[in-house]
Amino acid sequence: MANIPSAFRTPENRLRCNGADAIVRILDREEIRVLPLSPSTAVDEVDRVLRQLREYDAAANERAGRTAEPSDSAHKHAGEAHSIVNALRTVARGGTTLLLSNDGGAMKVAELNGIPYKHVGNLIAELACVDPAPTAEELLQHFNDVTAHFATVPQRSRPTGTDFFSCHMTDGVCGSCDRM
Ligand SMILES: [Zn+2]
Repeated sequence: MANIPSAFRTPENRLRCNGADAIVRILDREEIRVLPLSPSTAVDEVDRVLRQLREYDAAANERAGRTAEPSDSAHKHAGEAHSIVNALRTVARGGTTLLLSNDGGAMKVAELNGIPYKHVGNLIAELACVDPAPTAEELLQHFNDVTAHFATVPQRSRPTGTDFFSCHMTDGVCGSCDRM
């Protein structure tokens, strides 16, 4: 999105482009470190995770009575597979990690591999725990707005109501606050 020149930005994609610009600036300043996997050492691990992602796709296509699209190329899922393998390596080194994804397959395969994950709804819900100002109704509305055009979250993972966007602090304990 950051590569779209200003003149070609539409009212529909302007916010997403602005968001992409901000991320590119942060990456350029190296405030987020990108850790590429060494292809020679990670190939088996990436292959194993890619297989799991493709099996998820195949099962989802079968359930929906679809045939695989021609665009289901070798590159499909490469980003998710690398992210999950990176997360596995972080855990193996004793670190903590969290996969951010709205992709149903990536979330399922992360779960299979014991990697914690969050989707955009979980991130918006965190606002309820850090700031009492936005109401749960406003946060749900934001989630519905954001996921109407992009960042779609699969039906089974979508929050069903305002309860998801509320802090449940009682006696100093809130499960959502603890998971942040
Ligand atoms: Zn909370």
